[in-house]
Amino acid sequence: PRDTLAGTLERLDGTPYARYRSLTGRAWPLRQGATATLRHGQADPFAPPSRWEVHCPRTPFAALDLTSPVRRRALAGFLARTARAVAGPFRVDAGGQEVLQRSSCEVSADGSTVLRLAYPLPGPRRRIDGRRAAADLAGTLPDLLDHVLGADLDAARAFCDAVQDADHLRSSLPGLGLVAFVADGAVLPRASGVDDRPLPGAVPFTSPPSLRVEVDLPHRGRTTGAGVPTGVTVLVGGGFHGKSTLLRALEAGVHDHVPGDGRELVVTDPGAAAVRAEDGRAVTRVDVGAFVSGLPGGADPRDFSTADASGSTSQAAATVEALEAGSRVLLLDEDTTATNLMVRDARMQELVAKASEPLNPFVDLVQSLSEDHGVSTVVVVGSSGDYLDVADRVLLLDSYRCHDVTGRAREVARRPTGRVVEAGTFPRVRERVPDPAGVDTTARGRRRVSAVGTDTLRLGEHDVDVRAVRQFTDAGQVTGAGLALDHAVAAGHLDGRRTLPEVLDRLEADLTGPTADWTGGAAADVAVPRRHEVAAALNRLRSVRVRELR
Ligand code: ADP
Ligand code: MG
Repeated sequence: PRDTLAGTLERLDGTPYARYRSLTGRAWPLRQGATATLRHGQADPFAPPSRWEVHCPRTPFAALDLTSPVRRRALAGFLARTARAVAGPFRVDAGGQEVLQRSSCEVSADGSTVLRLAYPLPGPRRRIDGRRAAADLAGTLPDLLDHVLGADLDAARAFCDAVQDADHLRSSLPGLGLVAFVADGAVLPRASGVDDRPLPGAVPFTSPPSLRVEVDLPHRGRTTGAGVPTGVTVLVGGGFHGKSTLLRALEAGVHDHVPGDGRELVVTDPGAAAVRAEDGRAVTRVDVGAFVSGLPGGADPRDFSTADASGSTSQAAATVEALEAGSRVLLLDEDTTATNLMVRDARMQELVAKASEPLNPFVDLVQSLSEDHGVSTVVVVGSSGDYLDVADRVLLLDSYRCHDVTGRAREVARRPTGRVVEAGTFPRVRERVPDPAGVDTTARGRRRVSAVGTDTLRLGEHDVDVRAVRQFTDAGQVTGAGLALDHAVAAGHLDGRRTLPEVLDRLEADLTGPTADWTGGAAADVAVPRRHEVAAALNRLRSVRVRELR
């Protein structure tokens, strides 16, 4: 027993706190063939908690079909949530309503599982409390493990099936000519602005007959809902009738959701990007020539930089950056866009000559984006009828019910307003070649990559403001984006010769593997970000440098 974790901790009782580190690296046996390894000790009782890795070589979940990575991600999400529910002094980062690949739990094809937990090593007066540590690590932890391994197999299977259905549905979108699907019966509104669970008593979604699509899912079978086709989709309706709620559900639809969320079968093209205005952000050498035809002082809009963007230029940059990162679906909401980049109506065209207005409004570019570049847009505009001219379809939200009013919108749009189209085609945007020297994660000689909620990415000496990057789900994903950038440089993907999309292609391939392979041993909870959020973080990093535009 001297060589067990419990025996060792009891022997360390009362010794200086730093001796906890002597536990590091060894695989301490738990029950059921599992082991616990201390990966990162804790310098003192007030430092971030120690981090433990629990390996379970055999689990009953091997009985589930785990051949697809999607089901492994789902099972890991299920197990992490199961562990979190009984974690006691341990902390398990199981995430929110989304089911993402996370470092907290990873499952292999044979069912073997790694759990990663944080634990504050007890140490009153900076002495080791060996008894309590032993009770937690050799008592509570094996119990937690028993609980996880004893989780209901049917519940685990149902969780995997639900996530696999959503993933299958999302992959079927292109073949159906759709950019999104919203199942009948889906619950879109959230409990509150700070609670992402479903709103109790909400009006469930029903598809307008003209958009109704029937799909056949591997587990759930026949399912109906609204298919949002490619092209330009405009959402209209009175204030407070549910437009933003639908758009937010589409933003969230790039991720899978836990059973019971209400949005399990609300899925969006995996590359869909929420674009918004974000005045004050930095922009580094972005080709915003499509939106801006001249800048005061003669700066070149095709190579635009600023440390303090306006609402309109920030939205122009965000649009181009989304395209550069590979988005083929843009999601915009009038609540968070710059009006002067969205519209310029007939009267304003008459009063202010085009010669003295450098901005080309989005309304004049959105069709070209669709027709010339295959980029679809879903845009909420309850206030500007000019969008009726360019919409492939118009959906009306009325008391949370969705109606297809395209026919009536066409009639309304037939009466001319006198407005003239101000820009024809959306040009090919130039891609940037980022410089690795602009991405430095070291601060005072140490790697510094962490997150403050979904507001801030701490990267080296910089605090990157990511509040406007709405599709970041949680802090683990923000940290993940920072570590992904660090990895892109360390692995030589971001080498000063490749364009950003090329860098992201290579990075994306790495991000599908085990998190340990690209997080560089970080003592942090990590969720895998999309390439789009990695790019969004890079774009907001004020030290970023661009070597050339191609
Ligand atoms: P809009 O963008 O049209 O002004 P919102 O989408 O912001 O409207 O919705 C207004 C309010 O209605 C929000 O508080 C939202 O939670 C609620 N809501 C949205 N959809 C539903 C629904 N299907 N059932 C019940 N409440 C809803
Ligand atoms: Mg709104």
